[in-house]
Amino acid sequence: LNRRLAGLGTTIFAEMSALATATGSINLGQGFPDTDGPREIAEAAADAVLNGRGNQYPPGPGIPELRTALAEHQQRFYHLTYDPDTEVLVTAGATEAIAAALLALLEPGDEVIAFEPFYDSYAACIAMAGATRVPLTLRAPSFRPDLDELRALITPRTRLLLINTPHNPTGLVLTPSELATIAELALEHDLLVVTDEVYEHLVFSGGHHPIAALPGMRERTVSISSAGKTFSFTGWKVGWVTASAPLVAAVRTTKQYLTYVSAGPFQYAVAEALRLPDTYFDTLRTDLRRKRDLLAGGLSAAGFQVFQPEGTYFITTDITPLGEKDGLEFCRSLPDRCGVVAIPNVVFYDDAEAGRSLVRFTFCKRDDVLQEAVSRLRRL
Ligand code: PMP
Ligand code: GLN
Repeated sequence: LNRRLAGLGTTIFAEMSALATATGSINLGQGFPDTDGPREIAEAAADAVLNGRGNQYPPGPGIPELRTALAEHQQRFYHLTYDPDTEVLVTAGATEAIAAALLALLEPGDEVIAFEPFYDSYAACIAMAGATRVPLTLRAPSFRPDLDELRALITPRTRLLLINTPHNPTGLVLTPSELATIAELALEHDLLVVTDEVYEHLVFSGGHHPIAALPGMRERTVSISSAGKTFSFTGWKVGWVTASAPLVAAVRTTKQYLTYVSAGPFQYAVAEALRLPDTYFDTLRTDLRRKRDLLAGGLSAAGFQVFQPEGTYFITTDITPLGEKDGLEFCRSLPDRCGVVAIPNVVFYDDAEAGRSLVRFTFCKRDDVLQEAVSRLRRL
């Protein structure tokens, strides 16, 4: 492994999911639903496979049906207008979109400011691009970004702001006023913004606000999302980028040499999914809100300090009230102690002290699974 990637050996998700399987524990670690998305969307994928749609290499930017559906989705939910031919790109999950964007836009030595804790692939992709990450630490209990601190972190080498709202793992959702300040800074310092919005439809109050919709931002923002979370098909790995034509062209250049294209038949199915009626999106959100409250209540009763998430399907907790200090040790011992797996937030931090005692649980599981997990955790 080259020096740029030193320390990035195995992702925490692989480690913890393997631990869940080996110990037969309830896996509240890696974020994937235990119930698949809508039956008719799965049927659309099967149909595409059986009827020879997408079984051979689809077009590089993604099939036109999906690009059109994505442009319509951005219009329907955010009044953002994108040209499906030049301003939309289909990727192999948001993960590839993040990699392709950072590899396309960064020069070696550039600085990227990102909220810490950061989703694990950010650090790896910034490193692969030869750039440097500059963390803006989100601190408990509110995890709200200190935007004066953000301003102070900007240097002549800063090229790009990498934001994530709703934010994994804290559940923070940026407000319109926070986004406006971030946008002002981007304009003032001529910075690009890459925004990871994979949890855009999992916001429990206040709604999701894309920074690309703010004045002057469309031309400097690469917006990224994915079908995995919104439609509960994380294994399909269909993601996308929407941005101005020059930015999409740049990201497409790197995407061509990472995967060339992404799986064809799933693209047909996701094109249908994006056109599901509002009731689909509303039900997804209300179901998850109930699950959030179920898990949050259970974790509080078990003695955790719970930071109520405004979005995503994760709850960050502090284990200090349980007499514990080290989240990594805690998560490694949790399967043996009570048959539950969680994620230690410390792996998402450069500043280990800020994340040491924080532990993330996902609630995208059946209610009975969450109830059983909670009753196990109460035995701690
Ligand atoms: N960004 C964030 C913040 C995530 O939590 C995830 C996990 N799904 C991804 C990106 C990757 O998404 P995908 O599975 O579509 O590659
Ligand atoms: N995004 C999911 C999480 O944060 C899973 C990601 C992954 O497995 N790479 O749990």
